[in-house]
Amino acid sequence: MILGKIVGDEKRVRFNVPIYCTDCKKSVPGRIVSGEKYSQTKAFEIELEQFKKNYLCGICRDKKRCKKN
Ligand SMILES: [Zn+2]
Repeated sequence: MILGKIVGDEKRVRFNVPIYCTDCKKSVPGRIVSGEKYSQTKAFEIELEQFKKNYLCGICRDKKRCKKN
């Protein structure tokens, strides 16, 4: 999963962060990739928090989609 922008051939940084589905609480092996510069900014921290808050695993995402239809 890529957060933020990676410009051209900028160095990429990988993070292994614990991510949990916000619905079923299952842990999801998450690998976040971001550009080196962006990963050191406050904006990145905020984006990562938002991402974790809203994360749904594939199963819950499907469930949600079915409910809508
Ligand atoms: Zn789930």
